[in-house]
Amino acid sequence: MNRLNLLDLNLFFDGKKLKAISRDKRAVGFCAKCSQELESLGYFRLGSGWLLAARCSHGHPVLISYADDWRWLEDADLEIGAGQQSISEMSREQLEVVFSPGEIKAMEATESGEEVPRNNLCRARAKYDKFERLFGIRIRI
Ligand SMILES: [Zn+2]
Repeated sequence: MNRLNLLDLNLFFDGKKLKAISRDKRAVGFCAKCSQELESLGYFRLGSGWLLAARCSHGHPVLISYADDWRWLEDADLEIGAGQQSISEMSREQLEVVFSPGEIKAMEATESGEEVPRNNLCRARAKYDKFERLFGIRIRI
């Protein structure tokens, strides 16, 4: 599945990670699923062609391939993710609303590959749903 990370606009395509060369928001056609207008999210260079990630106002994402001369080639499935910030980049204040200092430490340590006592991490994981409900960010550690 092709996946666009909305946080940094990295596109995971065919096992490659592509960085957006432009984040212009433009109307780029109509959604095949609901006929609403599609708005571009990011433009990517791929070999001798282009990829364009777009989304309609109903939230249907699509990845459109173009040839070098902007001739349309095909539409492909796209999944959009909010992306994973690393724990150390996330707001302390937000983390502290949900997690205890020991749990935050356990998540940070796990992220950097250290061995941690499992119980703190297990307790933290049990609160991921709550954190997502409050702040709209899904932690995946
Ligand atoms: Zn749509």
